[in-house]
Amino acid sequence: MCVSLPPDKDRSYDIDIGRGLLAQTPGEIAAKGFGEAYAVVCDANTARLFGQDFVRELRGAGMHADMAVFPAGEASKSLREFERLLFAFRDMKLNRKGCVIALGGGVVGDLAGFAAGSYMRGIPFVQVPTTLLAQVDSSVGGKVAVNLGRDKNYCGLFYQPQKVVIDVSALSSLPEREFLSGLAEVVKYGVIADEDFFRFFEENVDKILARDVGVLERIVARSCEIKAGIVSQDEREAGARMILNYGHTFGHALESLLDFRETHGECVAWGMRMAARTAVFLGVMDSAEAVRQEALLDQLHLGLIPHPPEAARIIEAMKADKKTSAKGAVLILPERVGAVREVRDGAEKAVQRALDSRKEA
Ligand code: NAD
Repeated sequence: MCVSLPPDKDRSYDIDIGRGLLAQTPGEIAAKGFGEAYAVVCDANTARLFGQDFVRELRGAGMHADMAVFPAGEASKSLREFERLLFAFRDMKLNRKGCVIALGGGVVGDLAGFAAGSYMRGIPFVQVPTTLLAQVDSSVGGKVAVNLGRDKNYCGLFYQPQKVVIDVSALSSLPEREFLSGLAEVVKYGVIADEDFFRFFEENVDKILARDVGVLERIVARSCEIKAGIVSQDEREAGARMILNYGHTFGHALESLLDFRETHGECVAWGMRMAARTAVFLGVMDSAEAVRQEALLDQLHLGLIPHPPEAARIIEAMKADKKTSAKGAVLILPERVGAVREVRDGAEKAVQRALDSRKEA
């Protein structure tokens, strides 16, 4: 599969998806020669699970390779860790012929990608995502960033990787909460773009929750295909790419108000519930379609935040969203499962009603 970036085809890149790919990736990277030296960036967990072997294999293939490690968790998506990482690259004596490998979840990909895009005005990087969320979403599309305090992704770049390598076998060690978090983004793809994919999900919930590798491979591949297609049309989010933010305007507000105690996917799932209810209250979507989405999210135990902050605080936080226009937050709202639309104004009362509602949609 390829993320094609017209008109500048040189920046287009492949996404390899399969089982057991991690073992062969260092050799392939060495053979491709993305760099003369490699900085493998991990958080503390992925360093232990995959990083040490990865560096050993790269060295075994004759490459100069070192690992840079930071604490796991969203708090590391900060300017402080960004700076520490740049110093680590310098201490490794990485120069413009070096290459960064982002080996971990979305936090590793976002931080390492941003550091790669900034170090010496940009050196190549490869995404090797190891969480479901990173495999289906954050590793594809070239958005890399850190947070500015509570404000999500306020400091970053559009900076595309050389390649994305997705080993679905890596998901076997993922904690249940993180696995479910990634499923939220998969449900999102069904709602924004593909009703058949949503139905496949509904029909295979048990296999998905049991992490059946064949089914996982299929949902990762279809998710990447949808995301790659959208990014190819609109790399810099001037139009079509906005639909990927479904659930995120509400979700990012919740994430920051809860000081990142809930996972990204959990907050996005809650955001999708709120967006669907807003759509129903606005008369944009039939309530049966919202109920269908709620039912699937219920089965996945996603987006059930027992005591969310009060509506006024969420609405205020939504105004801090990067996509906010002069008229208020830009919302992506579903019309039905499989199609969404952008709403730029006139939704405030419906948003308030959705936030005040429990399960009335
Ligand atoms: P994460 O990177 O924090 O990973 C979650 C946890 O899983 C961490 O503790 C990590 O160490 C651990 N982990 C990773 N791989 C593992 C494995 N195979 N086995 C066991 N543990 C493993 O979180 P995430 O959910 O992957 O990513 C969330 C981040 O992604 C957020 O910051 C979000 O804003 C960002 N994001 C970015 C984009 C984008 O387009 N750039 C899109 C969506 C989300």
